[in-house]
Amino acid sequence: MKILSCYVNEMAITVNRVEVSPFRKLNSPIRKIHYSGVRTRDYEFHFNLKGEIKMIRGLGMNWPHPYNWLKRSDGNDWVYYRTGNVAKRQVLKFFGEYYLPCLSYQSNQIFEFNPYTDPAVAAALAAWSQLYANLYGTNTDDLKPEIRDFIKSVIKNGEDVLHQNAKDFHEITGGRISVLPPDARHVNYDVVPVMISEGCIYNCKFCYVKSKKKFNSFSKDKITTQIDALKSFYGENIINYSGLFLGNHDGLFAEFETIEMAANASYKEFGFEKHSVRPAMFLFGSVESFLRSDTKTLEGLNNLPYHTYINIGLESFDKETLDLLGKPLSPSLNKEVFEKMVEVNRNYENIEITANILLSEDFSENHNNSVIEMLNSVKEKTNKGGVYFSPMVNNLDRVKSLDTFFDIKNQVSYPAFTYLIQRL
Ligand code: SF4
Repeated sequence: MKILSCYVNEMAITVNRVEVSPFRKLNSPIRKIHYSGVRTRDYEFHFNLKGEIKMIRGLGMNWPHPYNWLKRSDGNDWVYYRTGNVAKRQVLKFFGEYYLPCLSYQSNQIFEFNPYTDPAVAAALAAWSQLYANLYGTNTDDLKPEIRDFIKSVIKNGEDVLHQNAKDFHEITGGRISVLPPDARHVNYDVVPVMISEGCIYNCKFCYVKSKKKFNSFSKDKITTQIDALKSFYGENIINYSGLFLGNHDGLFAEFETIEMAANASYKEFGFEKHSVRPAMFLFGSVESFLRSDTKTLEGLNNLPYHTYINIGLESFDKETLDLLGKPLSPSLNKEVFEKMVEVNRNYENIEITANILLSEDFSENHNNSVIEMLNSVKEKTNKGGVYFSPMVNNLDRVKSLDTFFDIKNQVSYPAFTYLIQRL
């Protein structure tokens, strides 16, 4: 489709843009986004192919940084992306990306920073309401049909409709998704979520994202119905997604046949083959589901048309800490998982396993020391896999947690990042 532009009512409108995502990493595959944009004197707005507002960036002197953005998720949350340094640390070093998502809801952030009280951010959100009103009042008679259609599609997606769309989205997925795998950062959390199971097998005491349901794997029919509904929900905007999340808290505990069926059906229905980069698939796994994954399962996963990321919650290698967390695992079992994880990352090109470890000022030195010891047991240099350190939600001293993270990171060469719990 041809790019078309016009200038009307002090708004520069451009439709059918295809650009490299502003969130790309220098060493990652280039992902392109398809969108239409409106530029005013003070702001830049991006809309997805359904005409829904997607991003806002300030252009004036008051905007905190030219590379900072506000992005709206499919769950209708605004997320402020901050670049550069936070608490005097480079974001890239602790988050693995050039930006740090700042959430508008309670989570396990590792720093105290609330951009939503910043007048510049509040003004940007108000500017979107003003833009909507201006587009609504624009006489489109003399405009090219593509621009007219774009304005119509934005007007169709006012605040109440965006709210309803998110409700419809959650209806399809069986409710709001309480947590996305940390690896979803590789596609900037733009994932299509297909639930293949619900619940989890441990129901750990410390966890606030669990559903409290017993583990249950979904039938083929239920998964197919969901994929069909998601296909119609995304419409042509599906072109902007190259990540699939097979949820929920322990997707790997579903039978391999279920995973394979959902992965292949999604690949076909969501048109993932149209992307020039290999799509990414994300799952959470548990100690049990990963340990029972035999060679046949791993080879099956490796042969799927995705780069598959599996994230496993280990939380600690220290007995006292695991007991405190109410996580029914042992240090020896977690050690076994960690060793298998390193081996799988070494031997399977299209599978990448990562693990979660908890971070808290309340944990003993043994917790930190046992993690350091385990990570240092890996002698080879690698960029595949890694460990995410997740601050406990009730941590009062966030800056201290960041210091603790760097204390550990500086003593290991294994990839280590922090984990920010994000919902969808
Ligand atoms: S930490 Fe993972 S396994 Fe434990 S309750 Fe939460 S979701 Fe379930």
